[in-house]
Amino acid sequence: MDFLKRYRLPLKRKCRLEEWDANDSAGVKNREQAERQTAKNIAAMRALEYRLYAENRQALLIVLQGMDAAGKDGAIRHVMAALNPQSCKVTSFKQPSALELSHDFLWRIHRVAPATGEIGIFNRSHYEDVLVVRVHDLVPRGVWSRRYDQINRFEQHLAENGTRIIKCFLYIDKEEQKQRLLRRLEDPARHWKITEADARERERWDDYVAAYEEALSRCNTKAAPWFIVPANRKWYRNLVLSQIVRKTLTDMKPQLPKPVANLDQILIT
Ligand code: AMP
Ligand code: MG
Repeated sequence: MDFLKRYRLPLKRKCRLEEWDANDSAGVKNREQAERQTAKNIAAMRALEYRLYAENRQALLIVLQGMDAAGKDGAIRHVMAALNPQSCKVTSFKQPSALELSHDFLWRIHRVAPATGEIGIFNRSHYEDVLVVRVHDLVPRGVWSRRYDQINRFEQHLAENGTRIIKCFLYIDKEEQKQRLLRRLEDPARHWKITEADARERERWDDYVAAYEEALSRCNTKAAPWFIVPANRKWYRNLVLSQIVRKTLTDMKPQLPKPVANLDQILIT
C-alpha cells in the first residue's frame, strides 16, 4: 500500500473532509500487523536520521495539525520518541506571548525551524494563524486572509533553502472527538488535558472544518504537501505517519560525508 499516494491531498484540488475516511485502515489486516510495520518504520527512520545528522546539509520539517484530541501528542510519543534528541526537536505552539504577538505571525515559527541535519516536529504551527485565529476573529479578515499566500511563500522559501516539508492533518471525526474528550473527563490521568475551552471549541466544529478545508486547499503545494492521515484508530495513525516520514527521509537520500581526514595518516597510540 502506497500511503503517500493514498493520503496525499492532490495538488490544486479543493479539500473536502467529508470525502475522506477517518476510519480508513486500508491494506492492514489488524492492529498487530500495523504495529509490527510501525516498529520497522521507526527503526528505518532512526537509521536515516543518523545519516541526515552526519550529512548536515538538509533538514526535515514535519507539521502536525488536527482538531483538539486528534492525537498530535500521542503521535509524537509513539512515532517520534525513538528519534535522537540531539537531532530531533519538537516545538508545541501555544497561544502566542505578548512578544510573539508584537512580531509578524511567522517570526516565532522561523526561529525554531530545523537547522541542517535536524528533524523539526511542529505540534501545531503557523496554521493556527488561519485556524483558531480565523474561527475566533482574533485578527480582522483582511489580515488572516492574506496569510495563505504568505504561508506558501514562507514554505517555498524554506524548501528552496534545504528544508523538506511534510504536513500531516490528523483526521478524526466529530464522534471520535466526543469519545476522546469524555475519556479526558473520566480519567484522572487525563484531567490536565481538558478545560472548558475544549467544550466551547467543539461547538465550533463546523467552523474549524471550513477553516481547515480552506487552509489545506490553499496551502497544498509541491514544496509543502498536505497528507490527510486517518486518525480515529491510533495504531493506524501511527502506521501511516511512520510510513510517510520513513518514505520522505528515504527520498531525501541522506549520505554519510566523506572522511575529512586522510585515514591512513591517523595513528592512534
Ligand atoms: P494544546 O495544543 O492543547 O496545548 O493547546 C494549545 C492552544 O493554543 C490551542 O487552543 C491552540 O488553538 C492555541 N494556539 C496555538 N497557536 C495559536 C495562535 N497563533 N493564536 C491563538 N491561539 C493559538
Ligand atoms: Mg488541548
